[in-house]
Amino acid sequence: MFDNERIALAEAGRELMNRKLSVGTWGNISLRVEKDKCIITPSGMNYQKLKPDDMVLIDLEGQVIDGKWKPSSEKTLHAEIYKNRADVRAIIHYHPIFSSILSVVRYNIPALIEDSVMLLGGEIKVTDYVFPGGAELAKEAVRGLGNNNAVILANHGAVCVGKDLEKTFAACEVLEKSAQIFIFAKLFGQVNLLPEDDIRKLQALTADYLKLWEQK
Ligand code: 13P
Ligand code: ZN
Repeated sequence: MFDNERIALAEAGRELMNRKLSVGTWGNISLRVEKDKCIITPSGMNYQKLKPDDMVLIDLEGQVIDGKWKPSSEKTLHAEIYKNRADVRAIIHYHPIFSSILSVVRYNIPALIEDSVMLLGGEIKVTDYVFPGGAELAKEAVRGLGNNNAVILANHGAVCVGKDLEKTFAACEVLEKSAQIFIFAKLFGQVNLLPEDDIRKLQALTADYLKLWEQK
């Protein structure tokens, strides 16, 4: 069941490693396959070796429906986001370097550049610190995410969400790029934000712009 989705998760996991967006076995990826079910990567397994049948099918209470491995320890984080955001069909939790720096200094990323405003939202929040792997982290992440497509988890990493895996993966790259730009701009000392009106204009263009992406 859900063969294509399992293949897509395995590929996305390898891409996270290849693009150095996470290291080792950390991070996790899921895809919503029904309103209240998702497939998720197993806990603590090497992405380079993950095969489609290693993925675990769970419901949004975190119960395993099918799979031979333990589901990700962040299954509650994924489930709570799906419960709170009907528009989300793919979630990537990862530990990228520049976003993690901001997670430590606890700086939100303001609206700086076009792709970030269009794909992620306005200001990207850093949550309060909570221990990984539980309901408390899930609650903080949902709160920090709001209607955006990215949130940074204090002293931990980040989460990106989207309508499909392709856009969610792109969101991961845009978030990390935005974090890097913000940090380097701060080092120069001058951070100029996008004008408020233009942020609203860009956001109004987003839905039509993303439809072009889906046409191919
Ligand atoms: P899993 O390997 O259990 O998916 O979790 C890794 C992680 O990043 C926990 O926050
Ligand atoms: Zn993590």
